[in-house]
Amino acid sequence: MEYDHALKKDVLSLARRLGADLAGIGEMGGVREYIRQNYGGALEGYPGAVSLAVFFPPEIINLLTEGPQQIYSHYYEVLNRLLDTIALSVANHLYKKGYRVFPVPASQQLIHDRYKGIFSHKLAASLAGLGWIGKSCCLINEKVGPRLRLATILTDAPLAPDGGIANRCGTCRACVDACPPGAILGKSFKLEEDIGFRFQAERCDNYFTEVKERHGLGHCGKCLAVCPWGKVPPKREYQEISRDAPEKGEKIADFAQDF
Ligand code: SF4
Ligand code: SF4
Repeated sequence: MEYDHALKKDVLSLARRLGADLAGIGEMGGVREYIRQNYGGALEGYPGAVSLAVFFPPEIINLLTEGPQQIYSHYYEVLNRLLDTIALSVANHLYKKGYRVFPVPASQQLIHDRYKGIFSHKLAASLAGLGWIGKSCCLINEKVGPRLRLATILTDAPLAPDGGIANRCGTCRACVDACPPGAILGKSFKLEEDIGFRFQAERCDNYFTEVKERHGLGHCGKCLAVCPWGKVPPKREYQEISRDAPEKGEKIADFAQDF
């Protein structure tokens, strides 16, 4: 395929202008059979994918170590809506130039299989070089770890692929150890293996139901909060800084100069 480099620049720059923090192009030809088997024929025929990511505010992910948070649910919805809006604009941009497009919603579930989405955004994102699929089965980016959300536009537009990056989980097992119901089995991602070898979705889902009965909010995200990649210092370190706050009468300007 002859690539249109100007079109790629145009598409990635549009995505960033609309609010994507990361954007890249994945080559989907090599995973065509995987897509056909797992997600059906409607999504298999696209040779490429525009992968988009928006960062989740890391301080909000930190809070998940303490349990479910209303603010997490709020931003989960906000990020998904933002991603869907960006994806629709990028898709229509390509469509108006004559290409086939299939914008896959940021958050989706198959009606007949509640543990599965209609498409794997993290697979497209890993092929586009946005990160790697970690032991937690989340997309891990080297700057923000799993603290992001994803959307994908499948397309036949001649966009040059960016290529994947190596898995950098190494010997880390933080997500495995932090998962309350033991849903993460500690195995590395392999395309040819069923996800069940790595992740017990039913355990995770049942835990969400249990948590909802106790807290009224059905989510967890401890595997996101503990991942060392892109982890920001937890809130208490900021509180230690605030213990050095100026005494009454001390000039704020002098205090601020210390930083
Ligand atoms: S969200 Fe919670 S229960 Fe589900 S895999 Fe992550 S840590 Fe485990
Ligand atoms: S917590 Fe560790 S093992 Fe789990 S995804 Fe992150 S780096 Fe990989």
